[in-house]
Amino acid sequence: MLTDRMRPGTSLIECPSCKKPVAWVTDNEYRPFCSERCRILDLGEWASGNRYIPDDKEHSDVLSGEINPEREPQTD
Ligand SMILES: [Zn+2]
Repeated sequence: MLTDRMRPGTSLIECPSCKKPVAWVTDNEYRPFCSERCRILDLGEWASGNRYIPDDKEHSDVLSGEINPEREPQTD
């Protein structure tokens, strides 16, 4: 039980998802989250595009611009 570990002296952090205090103990495999639910919720935020950078088209254009297929490397 996590509560058994939450005694004075235990490092407490804030769950990034629900802001609840979380005991930083090695037994907590979900740290820095307080629970698997919060970890999944946070990962879900990334996946749904709230934090993820979805548009990579500009980057692709830059790459294709650098590789110029019309340019012939051998110019005699
Ligand atoms: Zn939480």
